[in-house]
Amino acid sequence: MSGHDTSVFRDLFNHSFDAQWVLSADMHIEYANAAAASLTGYGVEELVGQPLSLLLPPKVAHFHDGYVAHYYKHGETQGVLGEPRRFEILTRDRSLIPIQLKAFRLDGADEKRRFGATMVDLRAQVLLEKEQLHTMALLKRLALIDPLTELWNRRAFDDALDRQCALVSRHHSVAALAMIDIDHFKQVNDTYGHAAGDKVLQQLASHLKKIVRKEDMCARLGGEEFGVLMPACDPESAVVVIERALQRVATDRFDLDHGHAISISFSAGIAEIETDTVADVLVEHADAAMYKAKKKGRARVEVWVPETGASPASA
Ligand code: GH3
Ligand code: MG
Ligand code: MG
Repeated sequence: MSGHDTSVFRDLFNHSFDAQWVLSADMHIEYANAAAASLTGYGVEELVGQPLSLLLPPKVAHFHDGYVAHYYKHGETQGVLGEPRRFEILTRDRSLIPIQLKAFRLDGADEKRRFGATMVDLRAQVLLEKEQLHTMALLKRLALIDPLTELWNRRAFDDALDRQCALVSRHHSVAALAMIDIDHFKQVNDTYGHAAGDKVLQQLASHLKKIVRKEDMCARLGGEEFGVLMPACDPESAVVVIERALQRVATDRFDLDHGHAISISFSAGIAEIETDTVADVLVEHADAAMYKAKKKGRARVEVWVPETGASPASA
Protein backbone atom coordinates (compact mmCIF):
# COMPACT_ATOMS: atom_id res chain seq x y z
CA MET A 1 0.00 0.00 0.00
CA SER A 2 2.84 2.33 -0.79
CA GLY A 3 1.82 5.84 -1.72
CA HIS A 4 -0.69 6.28 1.16
CA ASP A 5 0.21 7.93 4.38
CA THR A 6 -1.02 6.39 7.61
CA SER A 7 -3.88 8.92 7.89
CA VAL A 8 -5.70 7.00 5.12
CA PHE A 9 -5.66 3.90 7.28
CA ARG A 10 -6.65 5.89 10.33
CA ASP A 11 -9.70 7.18 8.40
CA LEU A 12 -10.57 3.68 7.27
CA PHE A 13 -10.27 2.54 10.88
CA ASN A 14 -12.45 5.40 12.13
CA HIS A 15 -15.22 4.86 9.60
CA SER A 16 -15.60 1.14 10.21
CA PHE A 17 -19.04 -0.18 11.25
CA ASP A 18 -17.30 -2.54 13.66
CA ALA A 19 -15.39 -1.61 16.79
CA GLN A 20 -11.66 -1.60 16.08
CA TRP A 21 -8.97 -1.61 18.72
CA VAL A 22 -5.21 -1.40 18.99
CA LEU A 23 -3.88 -2.78 22.26
CA SER A 24 -0.43 -2.47 23.76
CA ALA A 25 1.52 -5.57 24.77
CA ASP A 26 0.27 -5.13 28.36
CA MET A 27 -3.36 -5.03 27.17
CA HIS A 28 -3.99 -1.30 27.40
CA ILE A 29 -6.04 0.46 24.77
CA GLU A 30 -3.85 2.57 22.44
CA TYR A 31 -6.52 3.34 19.83
CA ALA A 32 -10.25 2.88 19.62
CA ASN A 33 -12.48 3.96 16.73
CA ALA A 34 -15.87 5.70 16.84
CA ALA A 35 -17.74 2.38 16.59
CA ALA A 36 -15.82 1.12 19.65
CA ALA A 37 -16.90 4.24 21.55
CA SER A 38 -20.53 3.90 20.52
CA LEU A 39 -20.56 0.16 21.33
CA THR A 40 -19.16 0.62 24.82
CA GLY A 41 -20.75 3.96 25.73
CA TYR A 42 -17.36 5.56 26.50
CA GLY A 43 -15.79 8.42 24.55
CA VAL A 44 -12.73 7.54 22.44
CA GLU A 45 -10.57 9.75 24.69
CA GLU A 46 -11.90 7.95 27.78
CA LEU A 47 -11.00 4.56 26.34
CA VAL A 48 -7.43 5.33 25.29
CA GLY A 49 -4.98 4.42 28.06
CA GLN A 50 -7.46 2.18 29.89
CA PRO A 51 -6.77 -1.52 30.46
CA LEU A 52 -8.86 -3.82 28.25
CA SER A 53 -10.19 -5.39 31.45
CA LEU A 54 -12.39 -2.28 31.79
CA LEU A 55 -14.65 -3.90 29.20
CA LEU A 56 -14.51 -7.49 30.38
CA PRO A 57 -17.05 -8.98 32.82
CA PRO A 58 -15.27 -10.87 35.67
CA LYS A 59 -15.81 -14.31 34.11
CA VAL A 60 -14.33 -13.28 30.75
CA ALA A 61 -11.52 -11.27 32.42
CA HIS A 62 -10.46 -14.39 34.31
CA PHE A 63 -10.12 -16.43 31.08
CA HIS A 64 -8.55 -13.55 29.23
CA ASP A 65 -5.83 -13.07 31.86
CA GLY A 66 -5.08 -16.77 31.61
CA TYR A 67 -4.75 -16.61 27.80
CA VAL A 68 -2.48 -13.57 27.96
CA ALA A 69 -0.26 -15.12 30.64
CA HIS A 70 0.00 -18.30 28.56
CA TYR A 71 0.90 -16.31 25.47
CA TYR A 72 3.74 -14.47 27.19
CA LYS A 73 5.09 -17.58 28.84
CA HIS A 74 4.92 -19.96 25.88
CA GLY A 75 4.56 -17.69 22.86
CA GLU A 76 1.51 -19.77 21.88
CA THR A 77 -1.86 -18.25 21.31
CA GLN A 78 -4.05 -21.18 22.42
CA GLY A 79 -6.14 -20.49 19.35
CA VAL A 80 -7.20 -17.05 20.57
CA LEU A 81 -5.40 -14.90 18.02
CA GLY A 82 -7.06 -15.13 14.64
CA GLU A 83 -9.94 -17.26 15.94
CA PRO A 84 -13.35 -15.55 16.18
CA ARG A 85 -14.71 -15.80 19.73
CA ARG A 86 -18.11 -14.88 21.17
CA PHE A 87 -18.57 -13.38 24.60
CA GLU A 88 -20.16 -10.38 26.30
CA ILE A 89 -18.50 -7.07 27.05
CA LEU A 90 -19.34 -4.68 29.85
CA THR A 91 -20.42 -1.21 28.76
CA ARG A 92 -20.14 2.09 30.60
CA ASP A 93 -23.67 1.72 32.01
CA ARG A 94 -22.74 -1.82 33.23
CA SER A 95 -24.93 -3.57 30.69
CA LEU A 96 -23.66 -6.61 28.80
CA ILE A 97 -23.45 -6.68 25.00
CA PRO A 98 -22.81 -9.91 23.06
CA ILE A 99 -19.95 -9.48 20.60
CA GLN A 100 -17.76 -11.51 18.31
CA LEU A 101 -14.07 -10.75 18.69
CA LYS A 102 -11.22 -11.43 16.33
CA ALA A 103 -7.80 -10.57 17.73
CA PHE A 104 -4.51 -10.57 15.84
CA ARG A 105 -0.90 -9.50 16.23
CA LEU A 106 0.13 -6.17 14.81
CA ASP A 107 3.74 -5.88 13.82
CA GLY A 108 4.43 -2.14 13.60
CA ALA A 109 7.48 -0.52 12.12
CA ASP A 110 8.56 0.56 15.64
CA GLU A 111 8.98 -3.14 16.56
CA LYS A 112 6.70 -2.76 19.56
CA ARG A 113 4.46 -5.75 20.22
CA ARG A 114 0.80 -4.82 19.82
CA PHE A 115 -2.49 -6.51 19.26
CA GLY A 116 -5.36 -5.52 17.04
CA ALA A 117 -8.97 -6.51 17.65
CA THR A 118 -12.25 -6.22 15.79
CA MET A 119 -15.54 -6.53 17.65
CA VAL A 120 -18.84 -7.17 15.88
CA ASP A 121 -22.01 -6.21 17.76
CA LEU A 122 -24.12 -9.40 17.96
CA ARG A 123 -27.22 -7.94 19.66
CA ALA A 124 -29.45 -8.20 16.57
CA GLN A 125 -28.14 -11.70 15.79
CA VAL A 126 -28.64 -12.92 19.38
CA LEU A 127 -32.19 -11.58 19.35
CA LEU A 128 -32.85 -13.39 16.08
CA GLU A 129 -31.34 -16.60 17.46
CA LYS A 130 -33.60 -16.36 20.53
CA GLU A 131 -36.65 -15.85 18.29
CA GLN A 132 -35.62 -18.83 16.17
CA LEU A 133 -35.24 -21.02 19.26
CA HIS A 134 -38.65 -19.89 20.48
CA THR A 135 -40.18 -20.63 17.05
CA MET A 136 -38.51 -24.06 16.95
CA ALA A 137 -39.91 -24.89 20.41
CA LEU A 138 -43.35 -23.72 19.29
CA LEU A 139 -43.22 -25.76 16.07
CA LYS A 140 -42.07 -28.82 17.98
CA ARG A 141 -44.96 -28.36 20.36
CA LEU A 142 -47.46 -27.94 17.51
CA ALA A 143 -46.08 -31.04 15.82
CA LEU A 144 -46.19 -33.27 18.90
CA ILE A 145 -48.94 -32.01 21.23
CA ASP A 146 -52.71 -32.38 20.85
CA PRO A 147 -54.05 -28.82 21.19
CA LEU A 148 -57.39 -29.81 22.80
CA THR A 149 -56.09 -31.96 25.66
CA GLU A 150 -52.40 -30.95 25.73
CA LEU A 151 -51.50 -34.63 25.76
CA TRP A 152 -48.95 -36.03 23.28
CA ASN A 153 -50.42 -36.58 19.82
CA ARG A 154 -50.41 -39.69 17.65
CA ARG A 155 -47.13 -38.81 15.93
CA ALA A 156 -45.28 -38.41 19.24
CA PHE A 157 -46.88 -41.59 20.56
CA ASP A 158 -45.99 -43.66 17.47
CA ASP A 159 -42.35 -42.55 17.74
CA ALA A 160 -42.26 -43.39 21.45
CA LEU A 161 -43.82 -46.79 20.73
CA ASP A 162 -41.14 -47.60 18.14
CA ARG A 163 -38.42 -46.53 20.58
CA GLN A 164 -39.97 -48.55 23.41
CA CYS A 165 -40.21 -51.69 21.22
CA ALA A 166 -36.52 -51.31 20.30
CA LEU A 167 -35.55 -50.79 23.96
CA VAL A 168 -37.46 -53.86 25.12
CA SER A 169 -35.81 -55.97 22.39
CA ARG A 170 -32.36 -54.71 23.35
CA HIS A 171 -32.74 -55.18 27.11
CA HIS A 172 -35.14 -58.15 27.06
CA SER A 173 -37.41 -56.21 29.39
CA VAL A 174 -41.19 -55.76 29.21
CA ALA A 175 -43.56 -52.86 28.69
CA ALA A 176 -47.28 -52.47 28.09
CA LEU A 177 -49.56 -50.52 25.79
CA ALA A 178 -53.13 -49.60 26.73
CA MET A 179 -55.65 -48.35 24.18
CA ILE A 180 -58.58 -46.49 25.73
CA ASP A 181 -61.84 -45.55 24.00
CA ILE A 182 -64.68 -43.62 25.68
CA ASP A 183 -67.96 -45.53 25.80
CA HIS A 184 -70.98 -44.10 23.98
CA PHE A 185 -69.22 -40.83 23.41
CA LYS A 186 -71.37 -40.02 20.41
CA GLN A 187 -74.32 -39.75 22.81
CA VAL A 188 -72.50 -37.06 24.80
CA ASN A 189 -72.02 -35.03 21.64
CA ASP A 190 -75.56 -35.68 20.41
CA THR A 191 -77.15 -34.78 23.76
CA TYR A 192 -75.00 -31.91 25.00
CA GLY A 193 -73.20 -30.67 21.88
CA HIS A 194 -69.67 -30.93 20.51
CA ALA A 195 -68.26 -28.30 22.90
CA ALA A 196 -69.48 -30.33 25.88
CA GLY A 197 -67.87 -33.40 24.29
CA ASP A 198 -64.59 -31.49 24.04
CA LYS A 199 -64.81 -30.65 27.75
CA VAL A 200 -65.20 -34.34 28.57
CA LEU A 201 -62.13 -35.15 26.46
CA GLN A 202 -60.14 -32.51 28.35
CA GLN A 203 -61.29 -33.76 31.75
CA LEU A 204 -60.50 -37.35 30.90
CA ALA A 205 -57.05 -36.29 29.67
CA SER A 206 -56.31 -34.54 32.96
CA HIS A 207 -57.53 -37.62 34.88
CA LEU A 208 -55.27 -39.89 32.88
CA LYS A 209 -52.28 -37.61 33.43
CA LYS A 210 -52.84 -37.71 37.20
CA ILE A 211 -53.52 -41.43 37.48
CA VAL A 212 -50.77 -43.00 35.39
CA ARG A 213 -47.21 -43.37 36.69
CA LYS A 214 -44.67 -40.61 36.09
CA GLU A 215 -42.75 -42.70 33.56
CA ASP A 216 -45.88 -43.52 31.53
CA MET A 217 -46.80 -41.60 28.40
CA CYS A 218 -50.38 -40.55 27.72
CA ALA A 219 -51.52 -39.51 24.27
CA ARG A 220 -54.71 -38.62 22.48
CA LEU A 221 -54.58 -40.75 19.37
CA GLY A 222 -57.63 -39.20 17.70
CA GLY A 223 -61.33 -38.60 18.42
CA GLU A 224 -62.14 -40.13 21.81
CA GLU A 225 -59.29 -42.60 21.72
CA PHE A 226 -56.29 -42.43 24.05
CA GLY A 227 -53.10 -44.45 24.42
CA VAL A 228 -50.96 -45.08 27.47
CA LEU A 229 -47.45 -46.43 27.04
CA MET A 230 -46.11 -48.02 30.22
CA PRO A 231 -42.39 -48.81 30.23
CA ALA A 232 -41.05 -51.49 32.61
CA CYS A 233 -44.59 -52.70 33.25
CA ASP A 234 -46.02 -56.18 32.79
CA PRO A 235 -49.66 -56.60 31.62
CA GLU A 236 -50.90 -57.42 35.15
CA SER A 237 -49.50 -54.17 36.56
CA ALA A 238 -50.82 -52.29 33.52
CA VAL A 239 -54.31 -53.67 34.27
CA VAL A 240 -54.05 -52.35 37.85
CA VAL A 241 -53.14 -48.85 36.59
CA ILE A 242 -55.85 -48.73 33.92
CA GLU A 243 -58.54 -50.22 36.18
CA ARG A 244 -57.70 -47.60 38.78
CA ALA A 245 -58.21 -44.96 36.09
CA LEU A 246 -61.49 -46.59 35.07
CA GLN A 247 -62.78 -46.51 38.67
CA ARG A 248 -61.76 -42.89 39.14
CA VAL A 249 -63.47 -41.87 35.91
CA ALA A 250 -66.60 -43.88 36.76
CA THR A 251 -66.99 -42.19 40.14
CA ASP A 252 -66.19 -38.68 38.92
CA ARG A 253 -68.79 -36.26 37.62
CA PHE A 254 -67.79 -34.60 34.38
CA ASP A 255 -68.92 -30.98 34.45
CA LEU A 256 -70.47 -29.66 31.27
CA ASP A 257 -71.72 -26.15 30.60
CA HIS A 258 -75.12 -24.94 31.87
CA GLY A 259 -74.87 -26.88 35.15
CA HIS A 260 -74.94 -30.33 33.55
CA ALA A 261 -72.71 -33.05 34.96
CA ILE A 262 -72.46 -36.59 33.61
CA SER A 263 -70.71 -39.85 34.32
CA ILE A 264 -68.68 -41.55 31.64
CA SER A 265 -66.76 -44.78 31.28
CA PHE A 266 -64.23 -46.19 28.88
CA SER A 267 -63.16 -49.55 27.53
CA ALA A 268 -59.48 -50.45 27.37
CA GLY A 269 -57.30 -53.08 25.73
CA ILE A 270 -53.81 -53.92 26.91
CA ALA A 271 -51.02 -55.62 24.96
CA GLU A 272 -47.58 -56.60 26.18
CA ILE A 273 -44.40 -55.36 24.52
CA GLU A 274 -41.90 -58.23 24.41
CA THR A 275 -38.64 -58.89 22.59
CA ASP A 276 -39.20 -58.50 18.83
CA THR A 277 -42.64 -56.90 19.20
CA VAL A 278 -43.49 -54.83 16.11
CA ALA A 279 -45.29 -51.58 16.98
CA ASP A 280 -48.03 -51.87 14.32
CA VAL A 281 -48.91 -55.41 15.38
CA LEU A 282 -48.86 -54.35 19.04
CA VAL A 283 -51.40 -51.59 18.32
CA GLU A 284 -53.61 -54.10 16.48
CA HIS A 285 -53.48 -56.42 19.49
CA ALA A 286 -54.33 -53.68 22.00
CA ASP A 287 -57.17 -52.52 19.70
CA ALA A 288 -58.50 -56.07 19.41
CA ALA A 289 -58.51 -56.38 23.21
CA MET A 290 -60.26 -53.02 23.49
CA TYR A 291 -63.00 -54.05 21.04
CA LYS A 292 -63.41 -57.25 23.04
CA ALA A 293 -63.99 -55.09 26.12
CA LYS A 294 -66.65 -53.15 24.18
CA LYS A 295 -68.33 -56.34 23.09
CA LYS A 296 -68.37 -57.69 26.63
CA GLY A 297 -70.37 -54.73 27.89
CA ARG A 298 -67.90 -51.79 28.04
CA ALA A 299 -66.43 -50.10 31.18
CA ARG A 300 -63.83 -52.85 31.43
CA VAL A 301 -60.22 -53.75 30.63
CA GLU A 302 -59.11 -56.71 28.50
CA VAL A 303 -55.61 -58.03 27.95
CA TRP A 304 -54.63 -59.44 24.58
CA VAL A 305 -53.28 -62.99 24.79
CA PRO A 306 -51.90 -64.88 21.78
CA GLU A 307 -54.01 -68.06 22.07
CA THR A 308 -57.49 -66.62 22.42
CA GLY A 309 -57.01 -63.08 21.17
CA ALA A 310 -58.10 -61.46 24.45
CA SER A 311 -58.63 -62.41 28.08
CA PRO A 312 -60.80 -60.61 30.65
CA ALA A 313 -59.02 -58.47 33.20
CA SER A 314 -61.99 -56.72 34.82
CA ALA A 315 -64.24 -58.55 37.27
P1 GH3 B 1 -68.41 -46.84 21.63
O1 GH3 B 1 -68.83 -47.06 23.03
O2 GH3 B 1 -68.67 -48.01 20.76
O3 GH3 B 1 -67.00 -46.39 21.53
O4 GH3 B 1 -69.35 -45.67 21.08
P2 GH3 B 1 -68.94 -44.20 20.71
O5 GH3 B 1 -70.20 -43.42 20.60
O6 GH3 B 1 -67.94 -43.68 21.65
O7 GH3 B 1 -68.17 -44.41 19.34
P3 GH3 B 1 -68.27 -43.77 17.96
O8 GH3 B 1 -67.00 -44.10 17.24
O9 GH3 B 1 -69.55 -44.14 17.32
O10 GH3 B 1 -68.25 -42.21 18.28
C1 GH3 B 1 -67.14 -41.49 18.52
C2 GH3 B 1 -67.56 -40.07 18.48
O11 GH3 B 1 -66.50 -39.21 18.87
C3 GH3 B 1 -68.00 -39.61 17.14
C4 GH3 B 1 -67.46 -38.20 17.00
O12 GH3 B 1 -68.48 -37.27 16.83
C5 GH3 B 1 -66.81 -37.96 18.33
N1 GH3 B 1 -65.59 -37.18 18.22
C6 GH3 B 1 -64.48 -37.46 17.53
N2 GH3 B 1 -63.56 -36.51 17.70
C7 GH3 B 1 -64.12 -35.57 18.51
C8 GH3 B 1 -63.69 -34.32 19.05
O13 GH3 B 1 -62.57 -33.86 18.82
N3 GH3 B 1 -64.55 -33.63 19.86
C9 GH3 B 1 -65.78 -34.11 20.14
N4 GH3 B 1 -66.56 -33.40 20.94
N5 GH3 B 1 -66.22 -35.28 19.63
C10 GH3 B 1 -65.42 -35.98 18.83
MG1 MG C 1 -63.70 -44.59 18.97
MG1 MG D 1 -66.05 -44.63 21.78
